[in-house]
Amino acid sequence: MEDLPFIPSLRRRGKRGGCEFMIRASLQQKPYLVKHRFFPFSEYLKEQFPYKVHKIPLHAGFTCPNRDGRVGVGGCTYCINESFSPNVKETHITIKEQIEKGKAFHKKRCGAEKFIAYFQSFTNTYADVETLRSCYEEALADKDIVGISIGTRPDCVTDDILSLIDSYTKKYHVWIEYGLQSIHDETLKRINRGHDYKIFLDAIDRTKKTCIRICVHVILGLHGETREDMMETADAVAGLGIHGVKLHHLYVAKNTALAEEYFRGKIQTLDMHAYIRLAADFLERIPPNITVQRLVGDTHGDFLISPIWKASKAEITAGITKELERRGSYQGALCNMAKSVVNNDSSEILAGSRRLQPA
Ligand code: SF4
Repeated sequence: MEDLPFIPSLRRRGKRGGCEFMIRASLQQKPYLVKHRFFPFSEYLKEQFPYKVHKIPLHAGFTCPNRDGRVGVGGCTYCINESFSPNVKETHITIKEQIEKGKAFHKKRCGAEKFIAYFQSFTNTYADVETLRSCYEEALADKDIVGISIGTRPDCVTDDILSLIDSYTKKYHVWIEYGLQSIHDETLKRINRGHDYKIFLDAIDRTKKTCIRICVHVILGLHGETREDMMETADAVAGLGIHGVKLHHLYVAKNTALAEEYFRGKIQTLDMHAYIRLAADFLERIPPNITVQRLVGDTHGDFLISPIWKASKAEITAGITKELERRGSYQGALCNMAKSVVNNDSSEILAGSRRLQPA
């Protein structure tokens, strides 16, 4: 082991077990870990494809069972899709046209050559299998689409739907993105998610029997959660055997239930430096082979009420890298897979899974 890189945080903090060997091996094989200190999705895409690939966000016209009364009304307390998914207003544009527009934009902006169709807005498995097939295949029909990524709720995926999505894995790069936000049921109730952690674990369990890659969304800074609560979510995510995460900071947007709570003085948002530290804490706890698709929430238009950070996404991401550097640390430095599996009673999930090889 003499030739392997020295990782101060492992020595300083003591080993929690699990990922030390993986980090040392990753640092040798993946130079970008030295540069970024985490595994960015852009680097993941470079590993997967010989050409530049970019995601195109799409709105297929679905709604959400947590809004139309099937599961709940009003939706998650923080949710206003127009704030994080600007294409919501493009309901009159077909999927084919949205793809044409997205391709032209990303080709010009960053020289992307191929694309992943990202069904982003609302709940993109909320329809019967035939309707879903026709939406997904309208996107896949484009010759430059090499993959598909489907954002949804964990209570909205039947086995038939998973089997349809799995059928695309033979030819395409396929992801499903599940909103989890927190493993704590009390928090999920407080933010009106309309599902509990057990339902999420069930969706993960069933998805892992397929070849679909799994990305999990988490929010840091949810009101009522302590740092320990958030780190319990990190430990749990670390043990799921998934392939990607998206981290968001809690923000308050106009026209949401959260905004009402905010103006009544019931909740606070994080300052940027506190978020940077929490995001670094989270990354230290998840394995280095989980790709990080997002490190900060995003708002469009004039929806944002709080926090106002006056820093770009790139600056916040650089701040997280700097914080890991300051600690002499990396993604996975404090990962303890054994602990997280036991805590969340998901050992069966891991044991029974037909995992894709880590990227
Ligand atoms: S599940 Fe998604 S689309 Fe539905 S209310 Fe919650 S955040 Fe909004």
